[in-house]
Amino acid sequence: MISYKSTRGSKNIKTAAQAVIQGIAEDKGLYVPDSIPALPKKISEFAGKPYKDVAREIIKAFFTDYTDDEMQLCVDGAYDEKFEEKEIVPVRKAGGAYFLELYHGKTAAFKDMALSILPYLLTTAMKKEKEKKKICILTATSGDTGKAALEGFADVPGTEIIVFFPNQGVSEVQERQMVTQEGNNTHVFAIEGNFDDAQTGVKKIFNDTDFAEKLAESGCRLSSANSINIGRLIPQVAYYVYGYVKLVERGVINDGDKVNIVVPTGNFGNILAAYYAGSMGIPVNKFICASNENKVLTDFFETGVYDINREFYLTNSPSMDILISSNLERLLYHLAGNDGEEIQSLMTALDTKKRYEVSEKFKEGMKDFYGGFATVKETNEAIGEMYSESGYLMDTHTAVAYKVYEDYVKETGDETPALIASTASAYKFADSVAHSIGLGDEENGFAYVKALEEKTGVRVPAGLKDLDKKPVRHRGVIEIGQMAEAVEDSVK
Ligand SMILES: *Cc1c(COP(=O)(O)O)cnc(C)c1O
Repeated sequence: MISYKSTRGSKNIKTAAQAVIQGIAEDKGLYVPDSIPALPKKISEFAGKPYKDVAREIIKAFFTDYTDDEMQLCVDGAYDEKFEEKEIVPVRKAGGAYFLELYHGKTAAFKDMALSILPYLLTTAMKKEKEKKKICILTATSGDTGKAALEGFADVPGTEIIVFFPNQGVSEVQERQMVTQEGNNTHVFAIEGNFDDAQTGVKKIFNDTDFAEKLAESGCRLSSANSINIGRLIPQVAYYVYGYVKLVERGVINDGDKVNIVVPTGNFGNILAAYYAGSMGIPVNKFICASNENKVLTDFFETGVYDINREFYLTNSPSMDILISSNLERLLYHLAGNDGEEIQSLMTALDTKKRYEVSEKFKEGMKDFYGGFATVKETNEAIGEMYSESGYLMDTHTAVAYKVYEDYVKETGDETPALIASTASAYKFADSVAHSIGLGDEENGFAYVKALEEKTGVRVPAGLKDLDKKPVRHRGVIEIGQMAEAVEDSVK
């Protein structure tokens, strides 16, 4: 039996179902498994299995309170024809690395991997826990989570989904994807602030017990679809196991050989899932944490100081324009030997002084990570070079990862085969990608999509087609201080 505890030391213990419903712990911490399960099967036994089977086994190993039948229903509902590639997660070789393509779901970003299953995990949890209230999902988004959560939860009975995105802080395609969202339970607001403001605002609403009571009276209970929800994080562990199995199947490595895993990182959820896969038994040499110019994490892995007293940059990899990487808290908790009090004091320092420094005992575990960053210029060059040399098209986020991987190899000479998390379709960031492969200016984001398709022949994801012709359904632009009010109005 695996149970879930808060990273900040509260003694309350939850089942996975309870933690999924609740989203964030009462003491503002994040739920973490009290132990990481070992791989439930040998790699050789996973070989040849479809993605769904690997996902079922891996998620079930963490979510021990879900029955086999329940978990089967969850993966059957999630990983079906919604994905445009039958394999769900194809692994493609280009430029000497292996790209784990996580973006073939409905919204063309890796968030679909977890957000197609989260509604099933949550509604199953509500049945298990006999939860009668409507669950209101609050989500702050740097661009991709919002749309994936809206798609996942649209018209799911017993839920409302409310999304806040930074006005001007997402790509044109991303914005249009969200504001055209259909479904009677969907609500989308642009906020006058950046992603960190949106995330902090959402966390504040979660922590306001008076507000929660008021909502409870109108039959609502708040939860989260951000990667602070453990139901978002655990499904992501599965694809790293799957990727490793594929490399063994293809003879790139032998069972037991190490790999490097490279992840373009924002909120630290995706790379933490890789770390969990490693803790389960996938042999990993380095977790390579790639950032854009908002390189708080690069500095952190170098110095042990996490410092957000710095300029915030808007880059062309907007889903990584983040200074407060929430899930780092979970890694620190594990590195501290599951010591919640120590984490509490670090997070208080982050709140009050905008910085903290970890003690020596964290540093041994931090050596499993390598942090690096790429500038916008380097990112664009990486896209252009990869396309001209291999004909492989990377989006801006994946290109950040690839560039950091190249730097890593140059610096260390480490030629361990690398799995690179490929997190979005190039068409989501069509303007940057088009310019990077030498195309000229177009009128708007949608014209770039067309130009890019004509030039490369790469298929445009169904969800991005004709986006410019869809009616806009959500027009709200609000101040940060109006977020709670927006929630109240939405759930009425
Ligand atoms: C969300 C996102 C990331 C960052 O992932 P985290 O789990 O927040 O670190 C990277 N690339 C894309 C395309 C994303 O949507």
